Amino acid sequence: LTILAFESSADDTCAAVLTSTRKILSNVVIKQHEVHESWGGIHPAAAVMAHQRNMPIAAKRALTEAGLDISQVDGIAFTRGPGIGGCLGVSCNAAKTLAAVHNKPVVGVHHMQAHALTPLLTSWPDVPSFPFLTFLVSGGHTLLVLAESLTSFKIIATTRDESIGRTFDKVSRMLELSWDGIGPGAALERFCAGPEQGSLPDGFYPFPRPMPGQLAFSYASLHSHVERYLHFNGGIESVSLPSKLAIARSFQLAAFSQLEDKLLLALQWCANKSLDVRHLVVSGGVASNTLLRERLNACLKNAPTPLSVIFPPPSLCTDNAVMIAWASMHRFLAHDYDDYSINPRAKWSIEELHDKSEDRDM
Ligand code: ATP
Ligand code: FE
Repeated sequence: LTILAFESSADDTCAAVLTSTRKILSNVVIKQHEVHESWGGIHPAAAVMAHQRNMPIAAKRALTEAGLDISQVDGIAFTRGPGIGGCLGVSCNAAKTLAAVHNKPVVGVHHMQAHALTPLLTSWPDVPSFPFLTFLVSGGHTLLVLAESLTSFKIIATTRDESIGRTFDKVSRMLELSWDGIGPGAALERFCAGPEQGSLPDGFYPFPRPMPGQLAFSYASLHSHVERYLHFNGGIESVSLPSKLAIARSFQLAAFSQLEDKLLLALQWCANKSLDVRHLVVSGGVASNTLLRERLNACLKNAPTPLSVIFPPPSLCTDNAVMIAWASMHRFLAHDYDDYSINPRAKWSIEELHDKSEDRDM
């Protein structure tokens, strides 16, 4: 099978073509960083406008790069949810309209399921075996999930407040780092990786380690910590470059230490339930961070149970339509299609993939 897929759940407009034999024929990602940098984050109305402008370009380019025309595609997939309602609507309508006009089947995909299943495509043939643990660390989520099959996921831990990706974005903005066309989270990583020495300013207390011993994340306290320091110490203008560097570096470490703490608790949780879990998948935009990759690899070397950690390549950790095509593949192969009347679902838990009800909040 050859599947054309669209993704527009947040700020990237994506289209891709993938075959059921795992060949990525094209992978188009049009980023909107310039649109959102002036707003300091994703502006929903501006994002919808940009998707509407870019989706026809992305779709056309995906087919051209794959060397195909629409008649040679066997089905069309799109991100059904979760995400920003208006943004989801752009992919949904593009997919349904093309599919209806060309008599192709259509499948709506869960965005977090797609992040979780990416390594089954990218690590072939050394793919994780079910059940496996998954960290989904992204702009909208911080989840620790047990993946039991392609379609069954159990949430072990989620964030009590903000996602890890959103916290990276906020701290990056508070430290006034330039997005440089790569976005706030990646800009913070790049700033931290610089060769200069950093030194924490007097009066900067260590970052908190929220909710010790509990299987739940909390990230809001990390950005509040930076915010409070800046508020009581004359703002970002009064912070020297070495201090700014040390604050950014110790924030990054604190963000990742929390993931390590919760991972060790999750391993204990699996052992208590006698679950034979051998792989940890780490996916979502934050998983493209090199320090996170190093830290989790090191943490698992000392883990009580052997577990191998699998990261998709960085370009397939952040949003893309290849993962949407891949997560739809088992449904196209089983002829399990959606109706052309299917709607987006902005709020949709990964535990409710089989729930066919509509989004009540839209
Ligand atoms: P979700 O997947 O939860 O719906 P999303 O699709 O908006 O959210 P992703 O594209 O999966 O999010 O990830 C984007 C997030 O990842 C942003 O918050 C971004 O700042 C963060 N991010 C991207 N690269 C890095 C990096 N190198 N280090 C840290 N964070 C990063
Ligand atoms: Fe995402």
